[in-house]
Amino acid sequence: MAYVINDDCINCGACEPGCPVSAISEADGKRVIDADTCIECGACASVCPVGAPNPQ
Ligand code: SF4
Ligand code: SF4
Repeated sequence: MAYVINDDCINCGACEPGCPVSAISEADGKRVIDADTCIECGACASVCPVGAPNPQ
């Protein structure tokens, strides 16, 4: 289980520095979450302006 960033991501980068385990990186014009690293803290979802990260 992990958070997943959906296609609503506008690649603003706001979520990346707040991830405590550095699971977020940029790929193909959006941010993506490494599912094996994510600890489901929800920090990315709380800062995202478009609600793109969601628990899966
Ligand atoms: Fe990082 Fe937490 Fe978002 Fe997972 S839920 S990607 S650990 S900020
Ligand atoms: Fe994408 Fe939201 Fe992260 Fe910005 S904060 S890069 S819109 S997931």
